[in-house]
Amino acid sequence: MSDFPKIQLLAPKRGMPPKHFADLSGEERIAALQELGLPKFSANQIARHYYGKFEADPLAMTDLPENQRQRVKDALFPRLLTPVREVETDDGDTTKTLWRLHDGILLESVLMRYPDRATLCISSQAGCGMACPFCATGQGGLDRNLSTAEIVDQVREAAAKMASEGSRLSNIVFMGMGEPLANYNRVISAVRQITSPNPEGFGISQRNVTVSTVGLAPQIRKLADEGLSCTLAVSLHTPDDELRDELVPMNNRFAVADVLDAARYYAEQTGRRVSIEYALIRDINDHDFRADMLGRKLHDTLGSLVHVNLIPLNPTPGSKWDASPRGRQDEFVRRVIAQGVPCTVRDTKGQEIAAACGQLAAEEKTG
Ligand code: SAH
Repeated sequence: MSDFPKIQLLAPKRGMPPKHFADLSGEERIAALQELGLPKFSANQIARHYYGKFEADPLAMTDLPENQRQRVKDALFPRLLTPVREVETDDGDTTKTLWRLHDGILLESVLMRYPDRATLCISSQAGCGMACPFCATGQGGLDRNLSTAEIVDQVREAAAKMASEGSRLSNIVFMGMGEPLANYNRVISAVRQITSPNPEGFGISQRNVTVSTVGLAPQIRKLADEGLSCTLAVSLHTPDDELRDELVPMNNRFAVADVLDAARYYAEQTGRRVSIEYALIRDINDHDFRADMLGRKLHDTLGSLVHVNLIPLNPTPGSKWDASPRGRQDEFVRRVIAQGVPCTVRDTKGQEIAAACGQLAAEEKTG
C-alpha cells in the first residue's frame, strides 16, 4: 500500500472567507464597531443576538440604530454558509446539510436528534489532509482550513434549527470533515465560543463537546493544557503500528505508544475519560488478537479513564473494504471488555444518507 496520497499538514491559505464577527476577539469587535461609528456596548448587544438568539442578520437586530444595521452587516456579517441541500433520515431525526462556502467549497454538518439530546457533527477543515484510506474525506485531500466563524456558524445554524423546534442543541462532535487539531487555534477559539455562557458563547457544556483526532500527539498535550474539559476522541483503529501506519498514515509520525501517552496526559490533566474510536473493518482490524491487544494496551496506559467506541465501517463508494459481520463485532466487544475496558458500538444514525464521513460532499463533487 504505497500509493496513499501524502499527508498534508499545512493547508493552502487561499480562499479564506471575509472577516466575520465570530473571528474577532472582544477588543477587535469593539474596535471594528467603533470604526463604524457604533458605541462600545453594541458588541455586547450583537453577541446577545448571535449567541443567544442565533441571529446572524444585523438587519433583524432592532436594538441597533436603524441606519447602522446595513453597515454592520456589510462589515462584520458576510454570509459564510449557503445551504445547498438538506437530507433527512431516521424518520426526520437526522438532518444532514450540505453548505457552500464563499469560495464554492462544499462542507457538511449532521444534526442527530435523540430522546435526551441533540448532537451536531461539525467540520473543522474543508477536506482533510490525513489521507486515511477508509475515509471518504481523506481521499480528496485538504482544500483549506475553515475560519473560526465558519466553524462557529455551523453551530449557530443548528442551534437555530433546534430552537425553532422548541428544543435545544446540547452536544457537539468535531467528527465531520477535517482534522481539528491541524487547525488548532481556530478550533480552540470555536470551542470557547461554543462553550462560553451567553452572551460570550452558546453555553453548551464543555463535557458535551468532543474533539476527535487521528492522534497529533503534541497538539493533544497542548489541548490538555487549555483548561477545557472537553471530551477527547482518538481515532486509533488498531493497536499495532504495522497496520496503523496504513490505516492512519499520521501514525508514521506519531506512533501508537506516543498517541496513547498523549491521551493519558489528557486524561490526567482533565480527569476526562478518553474515547477511542475504532472503525471495525472486516478481515483488516477485527481479529481476536487485536481486540486483546487493544484492551491490554488501553488498560495499561489509561486505566479506567478510557472507553472504546466501535464504529461499524461505513464503506466508501468503490471501497474494497466492508464492515465486520455481526458475530465478529460481538466477539471483538467481548474481548475488549474482558481486559477491563468499557466498549460499546456506536449507533449508525444517518448511514443511508451517507451522513458519516464526508460522503455527501464527496457525492456532490463527483456529480
Ligand atoms: N480527523 C478526525 C475527525 C474526523 S473523522 C479523526 O480522524 O478523528 C470522525 C471519525 O469517523 C473518525 O474516527 C474517523 O476515523 C471515522 N471514520 C472516517 N471514515 C469512516 C468510515 N468510512 N467508516 C467508519 N468510520 C469512519
